Amino acid sequence: MQINTDLLQKIKVASVKNADSYLEKILCASVDHGNFGMDLLDRLRDQLPPTKCGNCGKCCNSISIYSLEYHRIVRDLMTGSDPSRLRRFFIAAMRMDLRQAEVGAEKRLRCLFRDDQTKVCLIHQVRPFACRIFGLLKEDMTRECDQVEDLVYPPRVVSEKMLEELQAKILENSEGYEVFPGTGVIHFFPFEFWVFRYLFSPERALQIYREILIPMSTPLTKFWQEKRKLEPIKDSDFEI
Ligand code: SF4
Ligand code: SF4
Repeated sequence: MQINTDLLQKIKVASVKNADSYLEKILCASVDHGNFGMDLLDRLRDQLPPTKCGNCGKCCNSISIYSLEYHRIVRDLMTGSDPSRLRRFFIAAMRMDLRQAEVGAEKRLRCLFRDDQTKVCLIHQVRPFACRIFGLLKEDMTRECDQVEDLVYPPRVVSEKMLEELQAKILENSEGYEVFPGTGVIHFFPFEFWVFRYLFSPERALQIYREILIPMSTPLTKFWQEKRKLEPIKDSDFEI
């Protein structure tokens, strides 16, 4: 999959030229969303064991989140940031060209909330589920990152079933879209997708997702290549 460089360039120029009006529209969408679902996210977060990690930042790439989590992050930024800081965040969200990275032989989009100079996550308190569950102790007693340590003793195993149940509650309250015809609706997209969804429209955000965000990330490219393989035809497909 090739990145649509013309589209990327248009977004780059427009994001600088229209920064203030874009920012206003993005913030208004999350104000309109209101507090809906914010308590739910806090309650679900509290069900996960607290952890700490080596903070190397290697995993801070190409993260997908739910719309509820997107509003949670934007609302938190609105209360904790001055206008110029907010403006920098949203220009950074749109300047995807500046955050392309390579991890080994794979392509990634660096998370705009990772500050590589100070080595912090700028939204640590409201970071999404995908970040919180990375490295938790699995049923087979392994972790995706061996630098993650539980802050409770004994360490708590977190089952796949539990994670699915927690995420299903977020999903039920989040928006979903079909990316390619016939592949079904999904609810998790990069932060940048949600910015464009509220700035322009779901259709335009889906175009940016297909033509920029997927090709920029090897995990997303692989995910969609796999998902777009046709299902084998079943007998029931012939029933009318
Ligand atoms: S979870 Fe692991 S890979 Fe990610 S920042 Fe922490 S130490 Fe690095
Ligand atoms: S939100 Fe924070 S923890 Fe998650 S990928 Fe970004 S910088 Fe890393």
